[in-house]
Formats: sequence, structure tokens, C-alpha cells
Amino acid sequence: MKIRELLHWSSRSLVNSSSPDIDAWALLKFVLQVDDAWLIANEQTPIDPQHEARIRKLVDFRNSGVPVAYLTNSRQFWSKDLHVNSRVLVPRPETETLVEAVLNTARSFLSPTILELGTGSGAIAIALSTEIPHAEITATDLSRDALAIAKINLGRHNCANVKLMEADWFSGLEGRKFHLICSNPPYIARNDPHLEAPELQHEPESALVSGEDGLDAIRQIVSESSGYLHPGGWLVLEHAYDQAMQVQSIMNNARFVDVHSEKDLMDHDRVSLGRRPE
Ligand code: GLN
Repeated sequence: MKIRELLHWSSRSLVNSSSPDIDAWALLKFVLQVDDAWLIANEQTPIDPQHEARIRKLVDFRNSGVPVAYLTNSRQFWSKDLHVNSRVLVPRPETETLVEAVLNTARSFLSPTILELGTGSGAIAIALSTEIPHAEITATDLSRDALAIAKINLGRHNCANVKLMEADWFSGLEGRKFHLICSNPPYIARNDPHLEAPELQHEPESALVSGEDGLDAIRQIVSESSGYLHPGGWLVLEHAYDQAMQVQSIMNNARFVDVHSEKDLMDHDRVSLGRRPE
């Protein structure tokens, strides 16, 4: 069988995938350990039977729900290749909206200090670090497994301005103040049927689910963050496509000002921001 035929077979067989061509391509690159250019130039090359068997097995795993990112241990975010496994959430494209919102607000500070809560693979901190090399970034996570992955990614992308810290939201940060606090916290309601999606079954529940209405983590972060923001500092939070009004009212009730939301590429209000009064 030629590489081209196996690519076609794989993309036809990836029945649970929303992007079967891209996924088939990623699986082949991973198993053959080659780059895009090699694969394009070698579509007519016969495939080694051992490689073919591995690819067929990975297609089966994908069809049983395992995200491609976990099969290939990699995911692109903000044009960076990140190491991922099932101990961290797969970085999502909508989270780039959070990065953009933080970058926009960071412009008003000369040397911003930024706190990212629940960094997982480190995706957000790494994107911010590359865009604002003069920022001082602290990225926390409760999970040591996640911090180990974030450490790999920070090293891979030379993010010397990011410090990792094991923390349960603000624990251990007492007395510190930041210009910006951001997070993509868990925000799915415990009984949300969306959680039955096969992909989500493979991701860490602690990164997805947050109480009865999905807003426990957001309520806690909003209520505590004033104490960790400089006057005029911003809190920037990702949330579900239908939570903007609730998150805005949580921020307003906590006396944040200039509260508003930003849309993701799907036109959903995905990120809400509020500022600590001067
Ligand atoms: N955006 C993810 C999803 O709906 C959830 C991520 C999160 O809870 N932070 O699949």
C-alpha cells in the first residue's frame, strides 16, 4: 500500500472525527516521524507494513474517542507545538481568544506581571510569554502531572519569563499583586450531557467540570482575585458560550468595573473581563 492510499483509508475511517483529513495527516506524520514536506513529497512511497499496522491501530483508538492530540502527544496552540497527554486538557482554538484579550489589556502596562491560574499544558502562559517577553508570568496548577508537562513545553519554547507554581487557585500567593490575572478554568456543569462526548471522557475531569452550574471555579476566582490585583489590573476569564451574562454579573457584584465580553471565532461570547477600580 502506498502512503497516499493509507492517508485516504485513514481519513475515510476516522468516522468520529470532525477533521478527518487533518487527523489522518497528523497520525501518519507521527508514526512515520516525518514533517509535512516529506509527506507531500512521498505520497507515492510504499508504506512499511509495521507502520501501516500502527496507523490502523491509532485510527481504532481515535474512533473509540481518544483525541488525536493524546495519540500523537502533540497539539498546536498559538502556532506552537505543545506536548500533551491525558493529564492535561487539549488546548482549544477558542482559548486563543483569551490570549488575545490578555494581550490587548497588557498593552497599558509597561512591564506587566501576569498570573495564569490552572495552566495545564502551559499553552496560555507560553503564548503570552512569546508575545510579551518582558512580562513576568506566574503559571499555577494544582496537578503535579500537569506542571511536569508545562515544564517540558516552557523549556521547548524557551519561556524563561514564566515561573511555574503548584497551587490551588490563590493558595501560596498571599501578599502578591499582579497587573493581570487570567484563567481558562473548568466551567462545565456536573450534569451537562456534553460531558458524554467521547473526547471529553479522556480529558481530566478537574479541568472540565466545576460544580452544579459549572461556575464554582469562576465564582471563587472572581471573589478572590481583587486581593491579588493592582488597582486598575484586569481579570480575564474564559467560560462557556452561554455563560457571559452570568460571569459578567459575578464580576459586577464583586465590584469589578469596565466589565465586558469578547467573542471567539464562532461568534460566541467566550471571554469576560473586568478591572479592579483604581
Ligand atoms: N471548552 C471546553 C469544552 O467545552 C471546556 C474547557 C473548560 O472547561 N475550561 O469542551
